[in-house]
Amino acid sequence: MAEAAGMTTSVRRLNHYIDGRWVVGEGDTVFSRTAPANGQLVAEVPCATPKEVDNAVAAARRQFEVGAWPRMTGFERAAVLTRVADLIDANAAELARLDSEEGGKPLRLTEGDIAGAATLTRYAAGLATQTHGMTYTTNGPDFTGLVLREPSGVVGLITPWNFPALILCQKLPFALAAGCTVVVKPSEFTSSTTEAIVKLYEEAGLPAGTLNLTLGTGPTGQAITEHMDVDVVSFTGSTATGRHVIDAGKGNLKKLSLELGGKAANIVFADADLEDAIEGVLFGGFFNNGECCVAQSRLLIQDSVADEFLVELARRTRQLTVGDPLDRATDVGALIHEGHLNAVLGHVEKGRSQGAVLVAGGERLRTGQLASGQFISPTILDRVAPDMTAFGHEIFGPVLTATRFSDENDAIRLANAVEYGLSNSIWSKNIDKVLVSAKALKSGTIYVNTTIDAPPQMPFGAYKASGVGREMGLAGFEEFTELKSVNIRTGKRAGTFAFSPEV
Ligand code: NAD
Repeated sequence: MAEAAGMTTSVRRLNHYIDGRWVVGEGDTVFSRTAPANGQLVAEVPCATPKEVDNAVAAARRQFEVGAWPRMTGFERAAVLTRVADLIDANAAELARLDSEEGGKPLRLTEGDIAGAATLTRYAAGLATQTHGMTYTTNGPDFTGLVLREPSGVVGLITPWNFPALILCQKLPFALAAGCTVVVKPSEFTSSTTEAIVKLYEEAGLPAGTLNLTLGTGPTGQAITEHMDVDVVSFTGSTATGRHVIDAGKGNLKKLSLELGGKAANIVFADADLEDAIEGVLFGGFFNNGECCVAQSRLLIQDSVADEFLVELARRTRQLTVGDPLDRATDVGALIHEGHLNAVLGHVEKGRSQGAVLVAGGERLRTGQLASGQFISPTILDRVAPDMTAFGHEIFGPVLTATRFSDENDAIRLANAVEYGLSNSIWSKNIDKVLVSAKALKSGTIYVNTTIDAPPQMPFGAYKASGVGREMGLAGFEEFTELKSVNIRTGKRAGTFAFSPEV
């Protein structure tokens, strides 16, 4: 009998972490996580009750109001974060394995995610030492204006399943660097690396209550977003859930940072280095099983080179290795769960029924070691028109659509003709065309002659229904801070106040 993909031996029972203590969940609901590659039970995730969320928020509040963390110097906070980064590196192999096992993501990618998680933590450590406000000496001789930059308070962090460790580290070290305290909730599908990283923070000496972990599903997230004592919520997930988060945050008018869905275009002009562009389009479409917010899931190809480009792209797509996520030879792993796999295949069928032409993949793979996992062959739908569902809907799987364009204006029109605005790629050797297009595209990130690449220094965020706020870079750090204007009058001079009598 063929061995199933990614065979595992033990089931992890995860715990909440509240006020510096590991807590066995008191609720009745436990989410059982099975590995996408083989259906084996790998983790039992207790779902935090509103009372447990309350306890976590109260611990974070106490630490924020009277605890050590917000009162440390930037260098002291940076030292803890740097220790965490070193610990992430030291535990990289195990963290990558957990994300591959639970997320179905190829190990080569999760190894990159974990390296990225350490880099983000180191970058945020640097920001902790650089926080500063401003001073205005131009308010008149009797006035000095101070603009203080202060930590925002108690922060709720809610993360999705597609980059569990990486997205956690796009948020957590930045919030902590700013001096905030945190309650985090990972996706129920991929909670293990978050639990493991919280243990690394504990080992690095983070004071109790600074970082709290409440595991669970939607209702646990809802309890955090509704909580009247949470000041900021930084959420990454679907646009539909993002809308719930906006509603839930209304009670105390929380500050929100929302990183939501995407439907990026890879615009390939005829004057591009087409060999390079094919590799980029292949990577942009199928990286992370296509389960990626910045997946370049729409190919917009100039019609003069489209046929030739698509023949070669389809050939290379068929050569991608679909298989065990824990095997380094795998390019495309298993989709996150059965319901999602069925939805992805449903979109392929719908595309075909609306007139798209299937030129690669499009089927579930069930032979050999893939028999009990959620695998589909990387798929290309050609001749996809803007009014077809596949053009605008975030399919979030290894499905690339192809649409032809005539010229620059046509390309920009098509790229912007979706509700999302997270990222887009441009492939061209013509700098005028590149700059004009980059300025006209409505997305928070533009890649030029490259794709899916996010240095920690560069702010990451969105236009339109892909979200509000920014992560990473200085802008990402500032999401976790407030500005306070302090206007100081020195001396006592006549006539300062219009209503004051002369003295
Ligand atoms: P999701 O919206 O279903 O879940 C995200 C998180 O929200 C999970 O932890 C989930 O348990 C929690 N949640 C569910 N209901 C909630 C509620 N009512 N209140 C509060 N929290 C709730 O998203 P997903 O399926 O985990 O992730 C895929 C989506 O995330 C895609 O749309 C993808 O584009 C998006 N995403 C965006 C970015 C980005 O940076 N813009 C990055 C990665 C993923």
